[in-house]
Amino acid sequence: MVVEGDALDLFVEKLRSDAPPLSRIMDLQVSPGEYQGFPDFSIKESEETGSFTLLSPDVAVCGDCLRELFDKNDRRYLYPFINCTNCGPRYSITESVPYDRSRTTMKVFDLCPACEREYRDPRDRRFHAQPNACAKCGPRVTMPGGEAQGSVKRDPIEETIGLLREGKIVAVKGLGGFHICCDAANGEAVERLRLKKRRSNKPFALMAPDVGTIRRFCYVSSDEEALLNSRERPIVLLRKKDDNPLPDAVSPKNSFVGFMLPYTPLHYQLFYHPCGDGLSCHFSCLVMTSGNISEEPIVIDNDEAVDKLSDIADAFLVHDRGIFMRVDDSVVRKREGTSESGKGLFSFIRRSRGYVPGPILLHEDGPDVLGCGAEVKNTFTLTKGRYAIPSQHIGDMENFETLRFFEETLRNLKSVYRAEPEAVAYDLHPRYLSTQWALSKGLMSGKVDSGVDSPRDLPAFGIQHHYAHIASVMAEKGIKEKVIGVAFDGTGYAGDGTLWGGEFFIADIFGFTRAGHLDYVALPGGEQAIREPWKTAVSCLKKISGKDFRDHMELAGFFARYGREKVVMVGDISEKKDFSPLSSGAGRLFDAVSALLGVCDRNTFEGEAAIALEAAVFSGIDDLYPYDVVYGEPAKLCFSRTFLSILDDIGRREEVGVMAAKFHNTLAESAISVVRSLAAVTGIGKILLSGGTFQNDYLMRRVDNGLRSLGLEVFTNELVPCNDGGISLGQAYIARERLKAGLIEKDYA
Ligand code: ZN
Ligand code: ZN
Ligand code: FE
Repeated sequence: MVVEGDALDLFVEKLRSDAPPLSRIMDLQVSPGEYQGFPDFSIKESEETGSFTLLSPDVAVCGDCLRELFDKNDRRYLYPFINCTNCGPRYSITESVPYDRSRTTMKVFDLCPACEREYRDPRDRRFHAQPNACAKCGPRVTMPGGEAQGSVKRDPIEETIGLLREGKIVAVKGLGGFHICCDAANGEAVERLRLKKRRSNKPFALMAPDVGTIRRFCYVSSDEEALLNSRERPIVLLRKKDDNPLPDAVSPKNSFVGFMLPYTPLHYQLFYHPCGDGLSCHFSCLVMTSGNISEEPIVIDNDEAVDKLSDIADAFLVHDRGIFMRVDDSVVRKREGTSESGKGLFSFIRRSRGYVPGPILLHEDGPDVLGCGAEVKNTFTLTKGRYAIPSQHIGDMENFETLRFFEETLRNLKSVYRAEPEAVAYDLHPRYLSTQWALSKGLMSGKVDSGVDSPRDLPAFGIQHHYAHIASVMAEKGIKEKVIGVAFDGTGYAGDGTLWGGEFFIADIFGFTRAGHLDYVALPGGEQAIREPWKTAVSCLKKISGKDFRDHMELAGFFARYGREKVVMVGDISEKKDFSPLSSGAGRLFDAVSALLGVCDRNTFEGEAAIALEAAVFSGIDDLYPYDVVYGEPAKLCFSRTFLSILDDIGRREEVGVMAAKFHNTLAESAISVVRSLAAVTGIGKILLSGGTFQNDYLMRRVDNGLRSLGLEVFTNELVPCNDGGISLGQAYIARERLKAGLIEKDYA
């Protein structure tokens, strides 16, 4: 930009201080130039410079638009697609860059004269607002099939509100995909939805009209309130109040529930649309769960919705503004403590809508690379220059639909950021679709995206799963030197025939050594034990109890619960190597204890038993159980005495909340003692914590506090999830740093 005048310093200052809410100044350099004598002020067309421009994430409806939405005198009164330059859809509707209406799904709508005037006027709030529209010229909502069923042709939004109030389930097309919606205050409706959405206890996300309403159900701190109100509008996991009136089916056996505020005009209308029934607000909260079947990606297309969601939904509220990029809601949870800036600490459970495709700053320049992620909760990460660009939540990569979504999104983000990966990084698990994809597309044919051929084979880096978890923290903090990494996780591939997941590494960008791990537990039937944690508990006791096995199973109530014969059989299977792989996963240890305490014996979704065990913890307990560390290379943490002491407690009818707390304390204390000795031996002072088990805030807090009190520096994920959603960032960082260091061997790790 070129400026002339008297107050140039002030101009530069204002450029920063008065920048529009959605602008992001990445870099500002000022240099003197020739005097041109400009006659007036003008905005020129963007020039093609070869560098990329950032594409904004989708933004919640702003206060100004919201006021107009419910203003009878405004020309957009009750128009569900109202937006302006400060708000509205971005990433989800953009087909290619630069961001311009003709390259969005809005291209099929011609601006009416009134909208056109706003769009052209530099003083208007809708100047160059690409999705600008009104009821005359823009998208509209409809209810497919409504007329065919002979229902009176009413306003579709009013109709939807009426159905929801009757306890019906409605699929509602949103910003980044469909939601399945029902009245959360209606226990029967929620129960019915839970039955229809497979037999999973996965918590449903809720939407409430305002924070005041959420406080009727949950505790909300000021940090959490600010986050709920932020323009990213994530789902925030909040602690339930004891006497909350929510139906149990919303989030069974969980002390937390996810709430978000409305983020589109249509959402606000579901709560506040005038229906002539005298109500100012129709619902206290609505269930808003992802509109998908089994593990497929969230549905975005109207016909596809009717096709796939008809078994679940009684009706559909759709619209004709196309969704180009599907984006699920983001999920965030507050952590105990405050950051250095005095603000609250948050961790991502899922980084998606509102945040993606925003980049993460990588502190230094580097080559373009691609990290393909792992399997569950997958994302990929591209790097470009100083930035890492993690994709939105792709989902569990176990079917063709998810793989296609992965490819679509990759193609899109590559073109947005003009990234041409020079290397790919992948998980070592040979059966992961992401691994197979990386090896076939990345290495064999020398291309990293369908349709884009590369003249050479790309170096491919296989990165061990838990090393990638630790590397995701390195990436966030720009760490390259040696660290002690603690990865507490479910299970991940290691290549040595066992499943890792409770690991202590000495690591840097060049590799890692396994300095310690949790002792192995046999998983009877492998995958089966992961779904049925009580089998892991049987396996633990079979190994530990010796001749007392049957007495112990009796004492724990397992014979009564699962049948003597079955328990004995599972015990026998656990001793057969071929059927029972060994796992050092912290998640599996949580499974076993959760089942042993009778808290939760089935995982209908990943982490269920562990989440339930955390929820059971009584606060204010510092006692722990005995444990053993067998020092060696690697060191081994053994919990045999822990289990025996838990059995003693069970025999004494100790409270479950006390035992759950003591177990958490034991695991935390044992991890701290291993790190303490590793730090003493190696002189390494930076400790990195990651892996899905660290979503457990109680565990994280204790380990974090304990290590800090030893004078160690502790780092954890703040920008990406510590679960497998963060794996791709770690992979990409390692591949990128190794390329920079001139290493291109494949399978380096
Ligand atoms: Zn607005
Ligand atoms: Zn218009
Ligand atoms: Fe993992």
